[in-house]
Amino acid sequence: MYWQHKAKVIPVSRGNLFIISAPSGAGKTSLVRALLDALPNIKVSVSHTTRSQRPGEEHSVSYHFVDLATFDEMVSEGHFLEYAMVFGNGYGTSASWVEKELAAGTDVILEIDWQGAQQVRQLLPGAVGIFILPPSLAALKTRLTGRGQDASDVIERRMKEAVSEISHYAENDYLVINDDFDHALEDLRAIIRSQRCEISAQARDHEALLKELLSE
Ligand code: 5GP
Repeated sequence: MYWQHKAKVIPVSRGNLFIISAPSGAGKTSLVRALLDALPNIKVSVSHTTRSQRPGEEHSVSYHFVDLATFDEMVSEGHFLEYAMVFGNGYGTSASWVEKELAAGTDVILEIDWQGAQQVRQLLPGAVGIFILPPSLAALKTRLTGRGQDASDVIERRMKEAVSEISHYAENDYLVINDDFDHALEDLRAIIRSQRCEISAQARDHEALLKELLSE
């Protein structure tokens, strides 16, 4: 990585931070979309990227699409919590947006690659890492080809990158297999709900209840 990293450590965190990584084509984006519909009080960070917009993608919804000069400037200004080069393009997560949402008590999902996940874990060790796997290499290939938006050399390269991404699965806390979509979604919901019941967060959020129950 050639940019200097200047993001600050986020001081106050009331919401939970989830990092969801997966090889391209594992169905991560569809699962995250369904997860946002299924659960309240959770948002996904919209990354900045230098890659070109694909058909069907909306600016500031799928990504904030920026040119390389803008991206470099944002890096040197310390705008990003993490950033990385993925498939030859720059990708980065806005530190201020994540900080604001977590401080407000909103749970935040980062859909980022293993390089970004490593950076976030260093800054925020409480972040929960979830890795999504396709059910087989053949299924992954079908999904990458089926998308029909990229040239075959791009798909070939993405297959190699997918294997490289999968090699980092063990750095995560949870592994979800996206064989059956509803099952995988249920697994993700369960992970998030269990994190929300974690003792220190619950004790903080229900301080008054605990005080009342222990007052007798
Ligand atoms: P795509 O261009 O297909 O949407 O995403 C390509 C890869 O970039 C995926 O592995 C995705 O998780 C990763 N990615 C997307 N946004 C970010 C980001 O902000 N930071 C990092 N490190 N990776 C990202």
